[in-house]
Amino acid sequence: MRNMGTLREQLKDKKRIVVKIGSSSLTHKETGEMDYIRIEKLVRELSDIRNQGKEVVLVTSGAIAAGKKALNLNQIKRNSEAETMAVKQACSAVGQARLMMTYQKLFAEYNQVAAQILMTKNTIVDNLNRYNAHNTFTELLKLGVIPIVNENDTVATYEIEIGDNDTLSAIVAALIDADLLILLSDIDGLYTDDPRRNPDARFIEQVDELTDELMNMGKGSTGSDVGTGGMNTKLVAAGIATRSDVDMIIANSADIGILHRILNGSKEGTLFVGKRDHSFDLPGYVDKLHKN
Ligand code: GLU
Repeated sequence: MRNMGTLREQLKDKKRIVVKIGSSSLTHKETGEMDYIRIEKLVRELSDIRNQGKEVVLVTSGAIAAGKKALNLNQIKRNSEAETMAVKQACSAVGQARLMMTYQKLFAEYNQVAAQILMTKNTIVDNLNRYNAHNTFTELLKLGVIPIVNENDTVATYEIEIGDNDTLSAIVAALIDADLLILLSDIDGLYTDDPRRNPDARFIEQVDELTDELMNMGKGSTGSDVGTGGMNTKLVAAGIATRSDVDMIIANSADIGILHRILNGSKEGTLFVGKRDHSFDLPGYVDKLHKN
């Protein structure tokens, strides 16, 4: 087994980094309004990481949440019966534009060029789409641009939707051969049980292997009602990332400065160690999502 300190130290050398932030981290719990201070800190951190010569991709949720707010539909709870496909798609169409407007404005203040990439399952399953998406990402990163990714909720029906941005971010990381995926969440990382309910739950600093026991631990964790991801989707993401040889970290978004500390090698969050599984077929895997 490799030395833990050494693995954390190695994070300093990561070059291509995907960061995912969820709706609950981007909005105020009490009002559902956007948390501009948090978003601004995120943009500043990412801009600085970019200025260090690293490549940065941001996978952001929050389109539906922002759209709901703009349309005064906040009373409609995530995944409730009232949140029909049409409502969700209308909200995301309004909200995605607002979200991008905010990101564009803030990234421009730090002299960064941002781009928008909206994906669906087809982007990965279809060979030509996947090839083009890969080329677009590669070219944007070569040009020093920060791609901002979300699912194309406006057109994604159940059959072609990925469903949550934890999974989407891992798919993106696998597609572009990222070195590291950081999932910013409202929890410190992985625990042996839900720490909000069980005071004896222990924090897990590093996962070398995703055992069935670990995967089962995530089941039944629901997460917040603004985003879609609980611990389950994070473990699914860890499966995709690590099998594609991408290291992954779950870290708490309460202090966005954690991004710098992670990239300085300090022990923050839970590290899932990437180890290529040659039998892992990304398009085949994505094709089967939600089918069983
Ligand atoms: N794509 C959704 C949105 O932008 C979020 C999905 C998620 O929270 O995982 O609102």
